[in-house]
Amino acid sequence: MAGTSRMDRLYFDHQASTPVTAAVAQAMYPYFSDVCANPHSNDHAAGWVASGAIEEARARVAEAIGCDSDEIVFTSGATEANNLAILGAAEAAPRDRMKIVVTSIEHKSVLAPARALSVRGFEVITVPVSHDGTLDFEAFAEALARKPFLVSVGAVNSEIGTVQDLERIGEMLKESDALLHSDATQALAWRAIDVESAKLDLASFSAHKMGGPKGIGALFVRRECRDQLRPIQFGGEQQGGLRPGTLPTPLCVGFGVACETLPHEQEIVQWRRTTSDLMDKLSLHFPSLRVNGTPCLGHPGNLSVTIPGIEADALLARLQPGLAISRGSACTSGLPEPSHVLRAIGFNSSYAASTLRFSTSPSTTKKEVELAISMLRDAMRNI
Ligand code: PMP
Repeated sequence: MAGTSRMDRLYFDHQASTPVTAAVAQAMYPYFSDVCANPHSNDHAAGWVASGAIEEARARVAEAIGCDSDEIVFTSGATEANNLAILGAAEAAPRDRMKIVVTSIEHKSVLAPARALSVRGFEVITVPVSHDGTLDFEAFAEALARKPFLVSVGAVNSEIGTVQDLERIGEMLKESDALLHSDATQALAWRAIDVESAKLDLASFSAHKMGGPKGIGALFVRRECRDQLRPIQFGGEQQGGLRPGTLPTPLCVGFGVACETLPHEQEIVQWRRTTSDLMDKLSLHFPSLRVNGTPCLGHPGNLSVTIPGIEADALLARLQPGLAISRGSACTSGLPEPSHVLRAIGFNSSYAASTLRFSTSPSTTKKEVELAISMLRDAMRNI
């Protein structure tokens, strides 16, 4: 993935969004104008070219996550994919299983549709996590025993980087009739998801977290589970009617190429080293710093830290426009209250208000790490 940093503007917020890589941009370009046909126009060759490009992209996404092309439904992003998974499965849920299981650290785009279901008479069972964000398996087993129609566990947390043991979760669901959904938005950028080995029925993805464009994502729907999902939008017959609407050819193509150009194992090892270097240097400069989540085991680009006593808000403001880091998920950044993820791992509001998330990319350099730390030290001195 290409970096976005200039030396006077450093970007350490790759879990919020990544730059579109040169390969992706180049591949998308002809589909904005040269190949302008509606990909669902079957009556002419121009339409066939566009639809061919989309099907090629679909195959690339499928290959990256370990499924077949016909199990990929393109959406506008992971928010829509999560909504389709949860609300679409609820439409088909048996009346005696009107329960959904989620964890306390799911992304808002999982928690909000689950909450919407509770208004419609469904019960939402929220399973807690431990201080590092890993699932409480005892509570999870109890939740399963209550016979939910769907279980939704995020593969990798966007704020603290914690990875859940999806294979163990899948094993636990073997005897259950519940569908297993995972929001895997933060997993694909580092090839940490295979829907087959994780025994997933449904999984959500987003291109802009991995070098692709914003506005395109996908829901994996296991072929055998297709009947257990209903559309939540209505229109044409595109994508089997499950997600109607004209597909954006350039965005689909970009998503496909992003999947094909993901970092390789060695690059991921180096990526983790860079983040770990950042962690060591920060700890040296800020001895009271506490690292959240499961450093060295979680997302290779995630570093969530708490520096007790600092006010993250004021610090971030002071750092602009030089350094892009965040307090957590961009999807909750407008909210005044502390992050629900940090609260779920036991933080009080003052601890949460002293928490920062750095997120690096495979191409973040040592020099950028050093500059970021020096900017941070200057900003702290001035507060
Ligand atoms: N889930 C997770 C874990 C995310 O990090 C995000 C992006 N913040 C989303 C869902 C929403 O993705 P999108 O921007 O594609 O709607």
